Amino acid sequence: MIQHAHTAREMAASEIVARDSAPDRDSRRWQDEMADLVTDPTELLALLGLDRAQLPAALGASDAFALRIPRPFLSRIRPGDPRDPLLLQVLPGAPELEVSPGYSADPLAEGEANPVPGVVHKYRGRLLLIAAGQCAVNCRYCFRRQFPYGDNHLNRAQLRAALDYIRAQADLREVILSGGDPLVLNDRQLARLVDELAAIPQLDKLRIHSRLPIVAPSRITDTLLGWLTGSRLKPVLVLHCNHANEIDSAVRAALQKLRAAGVTLLNQAVLLKGVNDSAVALEDLSEALFDAGVLPYYLHQLDRVQGAAHFEVDDAWALALVEQIRQRLPGYLVPKLVREIPGERSKSPL
Ligand code: SF4
Repeated sequence: MIQHAHTAREMAASEIVARDSAPDRDSRRWQDEMADLVTDPTELLALLGLDRAQLPAALGASDAFALRIPRPFLSRIRPGDPRDPLLLQVLPGAPELEVSPGYSADPLAEGEANPVPGVVHKYRGRLLLIAAGQCAVNCRYCFRRQFPYGDNHLNRAQLRAALDYIRAQADLREVILSGGDPLVLNDRQLARLVDELAAIPQLDKLRIHSRLPIVAPSRITDTLLGWLTGSRLKPVLVLHCNHANEIDSAVRAALQKLRAAGVTLLNQAVLLKGVNDSAVALEDLSEALFDAGVLPYYLHQLDRVQGAAHFEVDDAWALALVEQIRQRLPGYLVPKLVREIPGERSKSPL
């Protein structure tokens, strides 16, 4: 069932947002940013003053999984530095094309927990609704880089079926809007979806997993705050930020708006070789998150998806890093080091 989701560079260039018919000024800004992503490796190397010798590998890897970077995120990458920790997360490269034993297209076996299109139901009390099949940024280590979004795209009838499935789960408390990135949907679509969920009596929380407030903070508009905080469901936003350099003043301002509106903000990071695999980087990340009003929640060991083996940090070093930051930071700034194991009823602490 699992197959390539982003098979061509051209997919990166297609517009990823279904625009509002009459967007207000704030919505126009983020929607314009989504329509102006950097999707061409040639442009990326030129903008950052990087060696064109990397171009053939970048083109090859972006054919398998498209290049996609919002320009606000690009502006935080140091020009001329091929080791920049933000660049390494988004630049396609030759190691992605190597086949690594023990790595697969569907490392979390989500294909086996997919009762109806658009729903991934692995854990008790909560489930994922794959609300969108695209992201604003394509992270090279993404465990869903080969997720069959095409099979899970929700047309009207499938959304009905997904909501019927949710309604029938009496022990469910929380729906997690995931993707892709659910915040690439426009506010009209999201408001409608939240209305439907709020009408399901056993739900009391709405969780959103999104990297958009980090990579394109203009997405946090007043209209978004309206539907996110305007229902009876308690809103929780789990961000995805891996390095302190990802948090600039625009991100801090967006997160401040969310907090002021009463949204609980948590972060999950992925431990990535070359990006954040040092105690200093993890300590700086926790401090920068807290400074922006976000609690570090999870630090994930890499999910073994084909094409991402070069990012893996071995367990012994991961544990040593967490021990080092435990000695330097208060407990609430030490994220839980976890691995997701297919078939387990929750994430597994290391
Ligand atoms: S934002 Fe999340 S889902 Fe999207 S590519 Fe990055 S890691 Fe994957």
